[in-house]
Amino acid sequence: MNKAIIKSKRHFVTHFLYFSLFLFLMSCNTKESRVITVLGEIPASAIGKTLHHEHLLVDFIGADSTGYHRWDREEVVKKVLPYLLEIKKMGYKTLVECTPAYIGRDPELLKMLSEQSGIQLITNTGYYSAVGGKFIPKHGFTESAEQMAESWINEAKNGIEGSEIYPGFIKIAVERRPLEAINRKVVEAACITHKATGLVIMSHTGLAVPAFQQLEILNNYDVHPSAFIWTHADNEKDYTKHLEAAKMGAWVAFDKFQPNQTERFIEFTKLMKTEGLLNKVLFSHDAGWYSPGEPDGGQFRGFTEIEEFLIPALLENGFSQPDIYQIFTANPAEAFKVKLRLNK
Ligand SMILES: [Zn+2]
Repeated sequence: MNKAIIKSKRHFVTHFLYFSLFLFLMSCNTKESRVITVLGEIPASAIGKTLHHEHLLVDFIGADSTGYHRWDREEVVKKVLPYLLEIKKMGYKTLVECTPAYIGRDPELLKMLSEQSGIQLITNTGYYSAVGGKFIPKHGFTESAEQMAESWINEAKNGIEGSEIYPGFIKIAVERRPLEAINRKVVEAACITHKATGLVIMSHTGLAVPAFQQLEILNNYDVHPSAFIWTHADNEKDYTKHLEAAKMGAWVAFDKFQPNQTERFIEFTKLMKTEGLLNKVLFSHDAGWYSPGEPDGGQFRGFTEIEEFLIPALLENGFSQPDIYQIFTANPAEAFKVKLRLNK
């Protein structure tokens, strides 16, 4: 056998081995790449165009008084369904509903709305510890982080309140200032829950100081920053903080888009692209908000302004369709896929 044939055989074997390894890794990846919607698991690749931070219903009455008696599901569906159909027409496939328990989370309502609209909805587990703990149930103040996490993990493993609806992420909230004891506890509980479930942690945060304090807590628990969505990061004016967090691996969410914010969002997107960090950016409106107790649920804000104002402005400013795909499809797929993100 001449040398050329031996060499080409060796090449073939090497290629074959690499290809097998590739297939193996792909199959591992497929197994892991799932996102949990209120209608069940889907492959992360099926998430499609996504609004990653919106609310269909929020009840501000407080943890001691809220409950499903506060609204009529049929009435809410009647009011909210057209807004979901509107974004469906625009090509959106998924809306992440960020209302935690004790402030209006209603998985059954979300299931009805998802079934009737065809929009994939994702709900959460976790507690909202901002606003002086108004939305934390009484036991939240006395239990340990481990006990708190236990009930969140239970929802992730066994369904929310005995239903077959599972959370697709952990939603917490901290004060927009240095962390207090109750804030620390929910962050710790989120870390414990992440390690048990692989659900990403979305934290209503705002400014950089509490954001980096939370990343420090993640680090104490050996949870990687990529498990953390810095929510309402648009409240922070210092872009160097956004860059620092994104370089660590955290998700930076500018999630309060309104048309008068277009310029700032463009500026931020340009910066992140120049720094090669577009793969850490998440955009949304933080809109919606059917309000129980108000006539006909009060004034509902729809979810179309990103499509009407921001995306055209991004395209006019030199961003490409692949950039749009990155921000509204690839990034949410990566952020919300069930995956353990631990420090090595
Ligand atoms: Zn929100």
